[in-house]
Amino acid sequence: MLSFLLPERCIHCERPTEFSRSGIVDTHKLTHYLCEICFRIIQRRDGPDESTVRDQFQITASALPIEHCMAAYSFMMESPIQSIIHAFKYSGMTRLAECCGRSIVTMLPGKTDFIIPVPLHRTRFAERGYNQAESLADGLAKDTKTAVLCAVKRTRPTPSQTNLSIPERIENVRGAFALTRLAYAAKGKQVLIVDDVMTTGSTLASVVETIMEAKPATISILTLAMAV
Ligand SMILES: [Zn+2]
Repeated sequence: MLSFLLPERCIHCERPTEFSRSGIVDTHKLTHYLCEICFRIIQRRDGPDESTVRDQFQITASALPIEHCMAAYSFMMESPIQSIIHAFKYSGMTRLAECCGRSIVTMLPGKTDFIIPVPLHRTRFAERGYNQAESLADGLAKDTKTAVLCAVKRTRPTPSQTNLSIPERIENVRGAFALTRLAYAAKGKQVLIVDDVMTTGSTLASVVETIMEAKPATISILTLAMAV
């Protein structure tokens, strides 16, 4: 699969990228995928503050104990971050997801032991070939003292949440996750759950409820973007 080499034009606006001008392939840099202007927009991270993310998460999960509740970007329609997420979800750009993880590493809480990606169901994983949340987690873990721990699995496929109301979303993902055989490692540890986009937070809430069974010391949440 060569798709990770493809961008010669910005994945958002189709202007030339640094790669197209220099001919140097470096798929670990955001400038491989974005033109200079879109890259600058992404660098000027516009994410909501922690209290805003927490308020949104608590609409569906007010009783869950969350240490840090964070999102790097606001997910706006027609923004570069929307194009980035679309590209790594549907165009096989796994390195772009990893690259995004690396670019937000400063958001990693200082005492994180394990980064836990929100899992895909195995049939979706087989279709896509990778889990974008896991690639994000890999990027975050690189060059840090944390490790990626696939402690949660999706036990049944869940239909798209896109056209569901909040109560329907909660019902849709209820009981859809279970601990894996690696989850025991999270006991007494500080864990960070990672996903690409938080909308109502119902998927994340279901993952948090599942990981609580492994008795970590603290649970934090970080998403690349939050729908606003
Ligand atoms: Zn651009």
